[in-house]
This record gives sequence, C-alpha cells and structure tokens, in this order.
Amino acid sequence: MLRLEQIKLPVEHEDVDIRKAILKRLKIPASNLIDYRVIKRSIDARKHNQIRFIYSVDVEVKEESSLLSRYASNHQIRKISEWSYREVVSASQNLPDSNTLRPVVVGAGPCGYFAALLLAQMGLRPLLLERGQEIKDRTCQTFGFWKGKCSFNPESNVQFGEGGAGTFSDGKLYSQKTDPKRYGRKVLEELVRSGASSEILTLARPHIGTFKLATVVRGMRARILELGGEIRFNTRVDDVLLESHERSSNSRKQYQIVGLKLQDGTEISSRHVVFAVGHSARDSFLMLEKKGVLLQPKLFSIGFRVEHPQLLIDKARWGSMAGHPKLGPAEYKLVYHSRSGRCVYSFCMCPGGLVVGSTSEKDCVVTNGMSQHSRNERNANSALVVNLLPIDFQKFERWSGDPMAGIALQRSLEKKAFLLGGGEIFCTCAEA
Ligand SMILES: Cc1cc2nc3c(=O)[nH]c(=O)nc-3n(C[C@H](O)[C@H](O)[C@H](O)COP(=O)(O)OP(=O)(O)OC[C@H]3O[C@@H](n4cnc5c(N)ncnc54)[C@H](O)[C@@H]3O)c2cc1C
Repeated sequence: MLRLEQIKLPVEHEDVDIRKAILKRLKIPASNLIDYRVIKRSIDARKHNQIRFIYSVDVEVKEESSLLSRYASNHQIRKISEWSYREVVSASQNLPDSNTLRPVVVGAGPCGYFAALLLAQMGLRPLLLERGQEIKDRTCQTFGFWKGKCSFNPESNVQFGEGGAGTFSDGKLYSQKTDPKRYGRKVLEELVRSGASSEILTLARPHIGTFKLATVVRGMRARILELGGEIRFNTRVDDVLLESHERSSNSRKQYQIVGLKLQDGTEISSRHVVFAVGHSARDSFLMLEKKGVLLQPKLFSIGFRVEHPQLLIDKARWGSMAGHPKLGPAEYKLVYHSRSGRCVYSFCMCPGGLVVGSTSEKDCVVTNGMSQHSRNERNANSALVVNLLPIDFQKFERWSGDPMAGIALQRSLEKKAFLLGGGEIFCTCAEA
C-alpha cells in the first residue's frame, strides 16, 4: 500500500479527477491502479483566487516495489504498513461470573462510553452508571431549559447525561495530538459503526453536529448492550468503598477499591472501576479527594465566547468564492503570544452555530458553542481564551498546590457572570 500526499485539485472537481491525479502523480497506466482510498481531505485557502482541495490517498498498485524505488526520494509517496485492530471477543466468551470481577464504568460521556465499549468488546460485560438521563429525555430537558420551559436539573443538563458534555455540540472530532498507534482512527471507525457518516474518516476537520450525535450515542449504547453490557441512567455514584491492606515492607497502607455507593444508598461490588466523570463533576472530585485519592491540578485556559456573522468569516477566508456549496462555512484559528508569557487564542470555533448556556451548577453562567451537522445558522462563534498561570490560583488555594483551587476560581467567575447577567433570568428555571 502506498500513501500519496498533497494531491491538489481545484474546487470544481469530480471524484474521477482524484483517480486521474493518482495516475498522473505515479506516471502509471490505469490498468496498474488496483484501488485507492481517500484518507484525508483539507482545503488550502491561502490564495483566494486559487483555493484548492488537498487529498491524501492510500493506493494499491501493481509493481509496488519498482514504483517505490523510482520515487525513493519523493516524500509525498511512501509505503505504509497494513494495520487492523485486534478483533472483538464474542459476548458468549464472557469472562467474569462474579460481580466483584465485573468492571464498572462511571459516566456515559465519550470517555466512559468508549471504555465500556472496549470492555464489552473484550467480553467483560461492563456495568455503566450515569447520573443523568438517557439521551431522549436529556434532550427534552436541556432544550426545554434553554427555551425557559423547563427548570434547571443539576443531574441532567448540557454537561451531564447520556453522551456526556459534548452531546449538544459541534461534535468536532480532531485533535492536535500525534497518533502513532492510530487510536484516533479506531475512535472514528467505532463512531461510524454507531451511526456517524463515513465522511468523518476522510475530512481533515471532521464534525458530527448535535442531532446526529444523539443518534450516534444511541448506536453506541445499543452495541454495548448487545455485547452483554448493562447501563443504568439516573444513577449517581456518591462514594467509593475501599479496603485497606498493610504493606509489610514499609507498613504504609494500600487501598483497593471494592465497590461503589450510589445516591440511594445501594452498594455495588467491583474491584475494577473506571472513573470517567468528565471535567464538571465537582462533587465527585471532592468525594474522591476526601477519600484520599491523589488528585493533580492541571493548568487550563479561561475566556468568553464571541459571535459574528458567518458571512464575514466566509468572505475573509474564501474571498469571492464565499458561499460556494463545496467549501461550506469557513473556520478560523487565531493565536497571540504576549511577552508576559500569556497566550490568547481562539478555541472551539463553531461555524454556523449557536452559543449555548452550559452550566451544570445552579446560579452559575458557563457558555459553550454548538452547531448542527449543516452548520447553517447565521452566526459563527468561538471561545477567546487565555492560559492561566499558577499565580492566578493563589487566592483560591487552601494550601500550596491545592488541586481544587482551579474549581474555586472557575466557580467565582461563573457566579459573577450569573449576577452580571441579571441573575433572576436564570432563577426562573432553577428550582433545585
Ligand atoms: C456545549 C459543548 C460543546 C463542546 N464541543 C466540543 C467539540 O465540538 N469537540 C470536542 O472535542 N469537545 C467538545 N466539548 C468538550 C467535550 O464535550 C469534553 O471534552 C468531553 O465530553 C469529555 O468527555 P468525558 O467522557 O471525559 O467527560 P464528560 O463528557 O463530561 O462525561 C462525564 C459523564 O459522567 C457523568 N457523571 C459525572 N459524575 C458522575 C457520578 N458521580 N456518577 C455517575 N455519573 C457521573 C456525567 O453526567 C457525564 O455524562 C464540548 C463541550 C460542551 C459543553
């Protein structure tokens, strides 16, 4: 298999032109091209009068080794190895009979759902516990809250519930991490198997969009259940049950998790628990800290959302080609490095989307962006954020390096924003 990079085609091109470009690049007759697959498609809009689509393709050809030696010095033509993921064990090969061996996953966000899916694929029949509602009820609840028709539910909202925090989002699926083991590809393939469009496998900056995401989330749930997993919604984990062991070498105690305590007092036994509670489960972080679990603070960025007409961005990026259906709504990314060591940058830009209220706590304001798959709302939005430094947290620390200081800082800003926004507007929806 050969990987060909940087195949450039004008905006107005057909699929057959990709094939022609491959033959031209390799200088081979059509009969020598067995098959090809588009791996990535991006847009080069640096010159408005010369916008191009750029393709990376994997091709299967006859006489591959002679082509490889002919193009040995060409970095845009290289051999790639075939790969596949280790395949699923069938559900009938379930390993754990005893409940204490059955793995439990806490949280049905992307992390929890993928952990549960992989455990289920290994035949381990995971039990997944989620504090929020299943996606249909959660969607009614969240959209009802945005429209002022439902009261705020601290257990099931834009952050909490089946699908996790990104369910009502733009569904952007790219990251800047290098991925030599192709875990990202595995994630994309599983999303397609759960109902996402196969275009996410090729676009350089794929996204799913809010309502399609809900379908994908239902698809993942069905696959976990089919493989023998179990999912309980409206089930909050409030405590971890630990067993202590004396370590003979230094007489320090070691702890083993043996179970979980739920909101209603029920206890569940398990010695294998994945905590996938996301970044907003502040009560769960506090509970873990009180139990002596080591928590480490992580620096993050903070800012606000800006909105502007999508047409403005399209014209700035695509020039006279703005509005061309093949280009779709344009995106942008801005970065400014100041001499003070701070960096201000745009983040999570949502073309043709909406700014939405995203708090999971009463009397706070948090904003985020979302869009549908079509990205056809009038406005674009993005977050403008600045990186925080340890000095920003000092006022909120109980002791040096306090892992909860970042949360105290977030909360203080969220509460101020709530008051500045008039407070009582959100109060009408907040009964909890
Ligand atoms: C509006 C919005 C738009 C976003 N857009 C994007 C985007 O386009 N692309 C992108 O990559 N990221 C986006 N994000 C960020 C993304 O959603 C998160 O990075 C991601 O959801 C983190 O996944 P997670 O599984 O770790 O945690 P979460 O998604 O936060 O899931 C954690 C789950 O655990 C549950 N839980 C918490 N505590 C307990 C408990 N004690 N017991 C039981 N269950 C519990 C919660 O209810 C939740 O469902 C967006 C976020 C928001 C809010």
